[in-house]
Parts: sequence; C-alpha cells; structure tokens
Amino acid sequence: MIVVLASPAAIDPVRDAARRAGVRCVADSEAAPRRLALVGALSATGRDELAGSVAAMAGVEQVIRDPGPAPLASRHFRPEASVVQVGPTQIGGEGRPLLAAGPCAVESREQLLAVASAAVAAGAGLLRGGAFKPRTSPYSFQGLGPEGLRLLAEARAETGLPIATEVLAAEQVELVAEYADMLQIGARNMQNYALLAAAGAAHRPVLLKRGLGATLDEWLQAAEYLLATGAPGVVLCERGLRHFDPHTRNILDLGGALAVKSLTHLPVIADPSHATGRRDLVAPLALAALAAGLDGVIVEVHPDPDQALSDGPQSLDLDGLRDLAARIATLGISLATPQRVATRTPRVDGWAS
Ligand code: PEP
Ligand code: MN
Repeated sequence: MIVVLASPAAIDPVRDAARRAGVRCVADSEAAPRRLALVGALSATGRDELAGSVAAMAGVEQVIRDPGPAPLASRHFRPEASVVQVGPTQIGGEGRPLLAAGPCAVESREQLLAVASAAVAAGAGLLRGGAFKPRTSPYSFQGLGPEGLRLLAEARAETGLPIATEVLAAEQVELVAEYADMLQIGARNMQNYALLAAAGAAHRPVLLKRGLGATLDEWLQAAEYLLATGAPGVVLCERGLRHFDPHTRNILDLGGALAVKSLTHLPVIADPSHATGRRDLVAPLALAALAAGLDGVIVEVHPDPDQALSDGPQSLDLDGLRDLAARIATLGISLATPQRVATRTPRVDGWAS
C-alpha cells in the first residue's frame, strides 16, 4: 500500500506500524518524504489491519490500499516522471529523449570506436554494446566477455558517452558493474528473479528489456524486483513481442509502451532494431516512438552490417545512424546528451553513476 503524508514529520508512527506488521517502509525521498510504500507479504486481514491503523494516524492524508502489482514502480508512489541518471546523461522526466546507439555485440576496438564516434556525432547520450551475448545457438558468437567490457570502457573514455551492457547471470553482475554505467537485463532474462535481485544489489541503473511475451504487469514486477533490491533507477525498454508473421522479427508494442508509461514513473524507451529485425524499418519506428512521446530509442549500429557477428540485418550502418539523427531533428526533437554534472565522481576509466 502507499501512504501519502500531509507532512514528512508524520513518518515515524507509520514506520513503526510497518515494522510491527513485518513489512518494509520505503520513502519516495530521503530528505522530505511525502509518500511511503509499505511493501511485503501480508494476509488480507493483516493488510486491512495495517491500512486501517495507518489511515487513522495524525498527519496521514491518504492510504492507497491497492497501488497495483508494482508499488515502487507505480505513479501512486511517485506521480511525476522519474529521471534516471546514467553517468552524465539524464533519461526520462520531462527532459529531452534519449538516442542510445551501439553495436549488438562488441567485436573489436576498431568496430566499437567507429560506432562510438558516430554515436556522439549523431547526438546519442548512451553507448550500447554486448560483451556477454545471449544467443539462441551455442555455436553463434557469444561476445568477447571481459575484453568487450574493457573496450567499452575505452570507448567511454574516448567519447564521454556512458555505457550500457548486458549482464547474463548473477555471477557476472560484479564484473559487469565494475565497467558499466548501466546494466542491461535482456528480454530472455526479464523473469530471472535471482539475476534481477543481484543486478539491483549492484546499485547501478538498469535497462530492463521487456520479455518476449511479457505482460505489462510482469514487466513492471520485474522492475519492482530491481527497485526493491537497490537499483537507483530503471529504464524500461519495449523491444517487440513474439508474433505470427515472419516478415518482421517481433512486433513493436507501441500502445503497450505508452500504456505502461501511464502506470509507471519510470522512463520507457523503444528498441526498433530487435522489434523489427529489419534495418529499413528501424528509422521509421524510431521516429514513431519519439513522436508518440516515449523517452528515447535504442538502435543497433555496425560499420559494416554484412560482416556483423550478430544482428547484422537489423543494424544501421554509420550513414544510417546519421540519417536517423537528421530525421529526428526534422521532427523538432533535441536529444539528451551527456552533461558534465558537478556532483559526478570520476572513476579511473570514466564515469561513475
Ligand atoms: C540486445 O540488446 O542485443 C539483445 C539481445 O536484446 P533483447 O534482450 O531485447 O533480445
Ligand atoms: Mn542484438
């Protein structure tokens, strides 16, 4: 349940009641909490009793007994859109939308640096690139692993772009979090709850892809795992759902992406590359997503897509990325670019979040 306080001073009795009921009390802000989420397992009776006693407390304005399946992610907990800070780039809020770009898989220094500098020139705010790749076939390229992470850090140092990269397993979280500004949880792992909990505990912002057939509530509950275990921010990414027609790889659920935005304060972006599997459809759907008001798009780019070791057919080449940026500009949209923030903590090889 969500408790709305008339003033932050009313927090203590609510906290005590939550403790007695055996649930957590999470505040929307440390400095001046106005909304509290009381989260944990309760019977129907236990919930009624807690809601009743909290509602009767002085300084409690409202108790929202059923904020939906993902209270921390919900607009009941935070009515305004959240900003997720990823290194020097801000995603979401009322700010400019994000263009994230990069190769599906990091293949070499030359490949990555070529894409990274094209990404900066295009106005991107985030560099993506897989070092650990979830591949359907065990014989497909599995990624460069730790070497890929080092190359991503080098690309960040060269360009100033923060980096997002996928973590496939709970055991990899520590290593990946040493390098990445943002952890990516892939579609196939959206409901790997042990991984979600480990990723949350790394205290890094997370890019959470929607599962291949996940409902909006399942997607939000995956985000809830991340928020409940310590992620400072989560960006939801609609990457297309399984469907019946072989002409596109998946189907971009733009309606679902907009619907989820009304339920959650978290930023929502679209991935037209995985949604379509087709380079020719990436720019039009990226433009559609931005025009519809999503918080950004993420696209795959390769200097020579025909030579790519993964997802070549859906990768833009460097000219394609430049064209996409030009078409975004014609919509009158300015993109979120890295801003040097005074509070950042420089790390040896780049940005800390
Ligand atoms: C990717 O981003 O390269 C990827 C594997 O995405 P998804 O998990 O959406 O398939
Ligand atoms: Mn890919």
